[in-house]
Amino acid sequence: MTQDRVSLASGVGAVSDASGLPNTLTEGDDPWGHARSLIDGWKGGINIAHEALDRHVADGHGAQIAIKWLGKDGSTQDLTYTDLTELASRFANVLVDHGLRKGDSVFALMGRVPELYAAALGALKAGLIFTPLFSAFGPEPIRTRMEIGKANVLVTTASIYKRKISKWRDEIPTLKLVLIVGDDAPEDCIALGPSMASAATAFETVRTAPEDPALIHFTSGTTGKPKGAVHVHNAVIYHAFSGNYALRLSPGTIYWCTADPGWVTGTTYGIISPLVNRVTMLVDEAEFDIDRWYGTIEKERVEVWYSAPTAIRMMMRAGNATAAKYDFSSLVFLASVGEPLNPEAVIWSKEVFGQPFHDNWWQTETGGIMIANCPGAEVRPGSMGRPLPGIEAAIVTQANDGMVELGDGEIGELALRPGWPSMMRAYLNEEARYQKCFRDGWYLSGDLAMRDKDGYFWFVGRADDLIKTSGHLIGPFEVESALIEHEAVAEAGVIGVPDETAGELVKAYVTLNPGFQPDDDLEQSIRGHARKKLGPAVAPREIVFRKTLPKTRSGKIMRRLLKARELGLPEGDISTLETDET
Ligand code: ATP
Ligand code: MG
Repeated sequence: MTQDRVSLASGVGAVSDASGLPNTLTEGDDPWGHARSLIDGWKGGINIAHEALDRHVADGHGAQIAIKWLGKDGSTQDLTYTDLTELASRFANVLVDHGLRKGDSVFALMGRVPELYAAALGALKAGLIFTPLFSAFGPEPIRTRMEIGKANVLVTTASIYKRKISKWRDEIPTLKLVLIVGDDAPEDCIALGPSMASAATAFETVRTAPEDPALIHFTSGTTGKPKGAVHVHNAVIYHAFSGNYALRLSPGTIYWCTADPGWVTGTTYGIISPLVNRVTMLVDEAEFDIDRWYGTIEKERVEVWYSAPTAIRMMMRAGNATAAKYDFSSLVFLASVGEPLNPEAVIWSKEVFGQPFHDNWWQTETGGIMIANCPGAEVRPGSMGRPLPGIEAAIVTQANDGMVELGDGEIGELALRPGWPSMMRAYLNEEARYQKCFRDGWYLSGDLAMRDKDGYFWFVGRADDLIKTSGHLIGPFEVESALIEHEAVAEAGVIGVPDETAGELVKAYVTLNPGFQPDDDLEQSIRGHARKKLGPAVAPREIVFRKTLPKTRSGKIMRRLLKARELGLPEGDISTLETDET
């Protein structure tokens, strides 16, 4: 398998771009020195909102556009750094006027409207802890998250409130205030519009200490019940650094992160990092639509684009002819996160956009990008890239006397040496689960990977998803990547199903590209292709056609759900489940 992966990379040829930033560090350098020098030890404290907003206004950049907002209905709104700072300050004043104080907890539940961004930054300004949720969550996932996050404030819309919250609102004892976006609110809520209008535009940002909690992010729930990861204000040092180093964000960059803030990417690299790096960022209220997305890149002259494999595979599915209608010449850097990026997608994006998508790996828990194909470094399609400066990553395994590091080419658990600023500080209410992430000085990611001799990391699969068949260990990513190279296959989810002789057999669920019909001939053809690519031991024995694969709201394939159904087991926590059509 190790052999296969390496030849996979060289087989498709390396892609690189020539932007010139090194991916190495001389010993003794302060890895985050640049970011530290940005952060001015303000009043002896550190506050994310100060770094994202106040500092730029004080430095004379208030007139620069911070957010270019694109409404679903075609309307647009430009918010300068001064505008956004004033909105955040008004929001902070509303909170304080209602008696809320540093350390209290604010939840947001709404689409990507300007108020969401004002609420995030306003809550941070006032020293409160901010938690964004996906607006499409159902009542139960919202409620459990608000309970364990001890929500004191909820900001939402009238429609969401009526449909999902009003019935049980009184049963959340901590909840003091519900703010409703717009001018009207139900009786037991406060309308945000008039409150903001009458609030002062000045607010002195609350001095928070580096270790004061700032954000709670729930994990995607791909492997089980989501965990609430707690992040602190000091994380902003790493947000500043990694956005600049791995995503090329710098003052004035036109940047678009397509992630929703309900997922950590949409907050770290969809709010904080870009603003700290003083970019002009797009916020699109609408969901994925191929012509809208391509048109946005062309019209807004997007330079840096951060997206996810699930969206990239949809673009591939839409075909090259659609892409050919648009001008992508503004793009200078493309990055992807959230799931393994199939080598096919890297090659394809280089062809279509003139720039390859650069894969990066990180987790809700790590709070920022850990491993990446950084600007200037050679891209090996199928590899996640190399650790960022200051990040020590290793492949480890459990041995008799504790965790040991494995050598190059060996598969084991991807581990990180704790200590970078954006690392989570706790799982809410789950101390034991948190402690289990650490062993012998390592943070254990739960992902399996391999490092090649040049220090590139290759994702193999989540530890839970590994398939054991006739003595082989198979990572689903490898099989899925081979399957989507077949012209008919758009997406694939691969699991192991129990088998008396082999232990487990590989089973694949696939969705098809337009123009292909699910039938026996096609199944034969796909299986034949997989056998040729992977060999008979690794190729799927069975292929099931589906309209969509079960995915989380952050776009991750939920293999555990495919497996639970296969085994007739309970489905477990499916609070984050999005698409799922057989
Ligand atoms: P849960 O922890 O609740 O099961 P989750 O792990 O999907 O959900 P996130 O923190 O949103 O929650 O996702 C992090 C995980 O996403 C990583 O551990 C990894 O499995 C996967 N991932 C992220 N980026 C990449 C990548 N570039 N390549 C492969 N996998 C990735
Ligand atoms: Mg996880």
